[in-house]
Amino acid sequence: MKLRLAIALSAALFVRSHSPAADAPARVPETDAFSGRPDVVLILVDSLRPDHLGCYGYERDTSPAIDRFASGSAKFTEAVASAPWTQPSIMSLFTSSEPGVHGRIHWEKPHADIPTPTLAEAFRAAGYRTAAVVANPMVHRKYGFSRGFDEYDDHSLAMAASSGSEPADMVATGDDVVLLAKKALDRRREDGRPLFLFVLFMDVHWDYLPPPPYDALFAPDPVPAPRKIWERGGRQPEPVEKRIVAAYDGEIRYEDGCVGALLDAVSGPDKPGNAIVAFCSDHGDAFWEHGFTSHGNSLFEEEIRVPLMVRPSGSSGWFSPCIVTDSVGLIDLGPTLLDLAGLPVPGSWQGRSLVPAMRGEAFPDKPVVLDNRVGADKFRRGVRTRRWKISSLPPFDRPDMVFDLSGDSGEKCNLAGRSEELPDEVRNLVPLLAPPRPAVHAEADDP
Ligand SMILES: [Zn+2]
Repeated sequence: MKLRLAIALSAALFVRSHSPAADAPARVPETDAFSGRPDVVLILVDSLRPDHLGCYGYERDTSPAIDRFASGSAKFTEAVASAPWTQPSIMSLFTSSEPGVHGRIHWEKPHADIPTPTLAEAFRAAGYRTAAVVANPMVHRKYGFSRGFDEYDDHSLAMAASSGSEPADMVATGDDVVLLAKKALDRRREDGRPLFLFVLFMDVHWDYLPPPPYDALFAPDPVPAPRKIWERGGRQPEPVEKRIVAAYDGEIRYEDGCVGALLDAVSGPDKPGNAIVAFCSDHGDAFWEHGFTSHGNSLFEEEIRVPLMVRPSGSSGWFSPCIVTDSVGLIDLGPTLLDLAGLPVPGSWQGRSLVPAMRGEAFPDKPVVLDNRVGADKFRRGVRTRRWKISSLPPFDRPDMVFDLSGDSGEKCNLAGRSEELPDEVRNLVPLLAPPRPAVHAEADDP
């Protein structure tokens, strides 16, 4: 039934990909008649795979609230993170730049100056009050993620510091995060400024230990899922693997209720309201597609694909819900939110606004650069387009992995050994594997 519902829903939406709309209205700023610029709310669920959501075709009923949001949004089906783990991915989202440019690629190192302006800085420079509620210790302010935020609630670390516990064991639950985010929303407009709010939920991230009744919702029995699955190495007995996936799905269903409560607080369930709202993840999670679990291990699709949905404010006259199948990156989300708010995009940012794709205008395929640390100072870099993905270890002059995603979305057939047979469009991607030059510096007009 869920699947039929998803299909019916999809059929009711526009599918937009490389097909210009001849009658697309002229671009207008996303300001409105309510109270000046719209609020902007960016919701991120850590480690959430798109293919485990109903709105992306999953057979389990994991996400009724997120599905409702998707039905009123632009839903991107080919969105990827810049990296398969939290810190480089979210810093790429915050700075619209590759991990090699912003440099937040060694989690154990303290904060270093990021050479590009951040999304929060851009909104603050435009007169916004900027606030964040984050539940992942990896985005603590000591790593530089709080730059540009007037208020930065890295709640879990505060809890850990007061209790003496390890931060990883003291992560704020989704219910905690909703309460804190609502407080930020309650202060909307109290000083006359519109709000930019970033909210990061952490429950879907391993360990997969959803609270009752979600722990047994998709499992045949309530036996707890094994802890520390990333330490278990390779394949597990089938019942164990099924139990782990059921626990992951239970976490999603729990989180879905929290996301729904937050969305209701932002604008109400039935009226779009004055806020621009975006929903995404920072990376996926592997479930043995290539023999291992967790994330941060590879650039395979199961680790880098993310859900992405964007809903303009209710005053937008041009928007209608749609499905966008163009290849995009999370580094494009910052420019998109600024564009929708009618604000300039910093000149040094590498991403591009997705508004033309949401309008059904021509949207040329642009390679997305991928980056993952695989050793102390060793990185695998990749380049992904709508059809191709190539990747390489140093010295990055020749890919050792090449996949044709159009017929091999599971990345089972490595074409790297047949380089002479590959088309020019693949060979032309190889120079992008080289690491970027040292820091791109902010333009004079950047905020
Ligand atoms: Zn993460």
